Amino acid sequence: MKVTDHISNAQGKTLFSFEIVPPVKGKNIQELYNNIDPLMEFNPPFIDVTTSREEYVYVNKEGLLDKKITRMRPGTVGICASIKHKYNVDTVPHVLCGGFTKEETEYVLVDCQYLGIDNVMALRGDAMREEQYFTPAKGGHTYATQLVSQIQNLNSGQYLHDDTPMENNADFCIGVAGYPEKHLEAPSLQSDLKRLKEKVDAGADYVVTQMFFDNQKYFEFVEAAKKMGINVPIIPGIKPMAVKRHLQLLPQVFKIDLPQDLIDAVDNCENNKAVRQVGIEWAIQQSKELKKAGVPVLHYYSMGKSDNVYSIAKELF
Ligand code: FAD
Repeated sequence: MKVTDHISNAQGKTLFSFEIVPPVKGKNIQELYNNIDPLMEFNPPFIDVTTSREEYVYVNKEGLLDKKITRMRPGTVGICASIKHKYNVDTVPHVLCGGFTKEETEYVLVDCQYLGIDNVMALRGDAMREEQYFTPAKGGHTYATQLVSQIQNLNSGQYLHDDTPMENNADFCIGVAGYPEKHLEAPSLQSDLKRLKEKVDAGADYVVTQMFFDNQKYFEFVEAAKKMGINVPIIPGIKPMAVKRHLQLLPQVFKIDLPQDLIDAVDNCENNKAVRQVGIEWAIQQSKELKKAGVPVLHYYSMGKSDNVYSIAKELF
């Protein structure tokens, strides 16, 4: 079922969902299931599965280092299919522009169609670790809007290069990313919102936000988006802070602000166990206020270990 249908069917009740990251290549999928199992108590209507950018590795070949490209966390669509069937829940694979040609994207979408996956999250992806700026794959998309258009074309029965008629048109519900504190490359929040409007006009059905730690930023973003004519659901993305290093890492990587009260509370923690508890309590307060404000879904970035998301959800659902 589509994410937007789950939201309509809930008739104003806030839903619970979360995002997982595929295991590192070579690791067993069981650990992922062990982390998903407890969260099923809160009836998530859908679970997102991220896609990682490819990266360079250096292979020692008779004393010479050979530069090769690989994906360290492959398997997004396979994991979506396995979770969908194991838990009888909808899954949302993240589909990236970065690292994929348009043709490869078409094959991913066709796989999703065969697997009965009804939703995809259309994202540009970040720059590769070695790059300063995002560079599209040769023959790939530069911006998420173009990816949304490709998916929308498939929804209208149009493949990339051939007019093979489709017996059943694709009918993907398309999610896109939104940034309450603007995307790090955008010159201003207003111009970033215009780009978001372009994604919605191209066919995006809903928005999931980047993490934020001050709900006011989300409320103002939703207001500004409405003024811009964006009328699709805007789902808040919540990340519980988990380690002290997040104080530097999150603002540096995502260009987001942290409230001083949160910084002080984390600074006063003696170890990461205490930080994890502060992160849980902060996320509970954030979630309670957002739920009271009637957000459609509370979407948690679980990043592997789910014990903190469990503690938060237990207070709310
Ligand atoms: P876009 O919407 O293409 O925007 C990128 C930048 O370009 C913005 O600054 C925008 O303002 C600007 N822009 C857009 N269109 C134009 C235009 N026509 N001309 C000029 N500028 C333009 N990354 C992953 O690698 N894997 C994931 O699974 C993943 N999941 C995510 C889930 C969520 C909910 C979020 C919020 C982010 C996720 N990301 C993921 C990170 C995302 O890929 C990065 O934030 C990326 O840098 C931007 O992606 P986007 O889809 O927002 O890009």
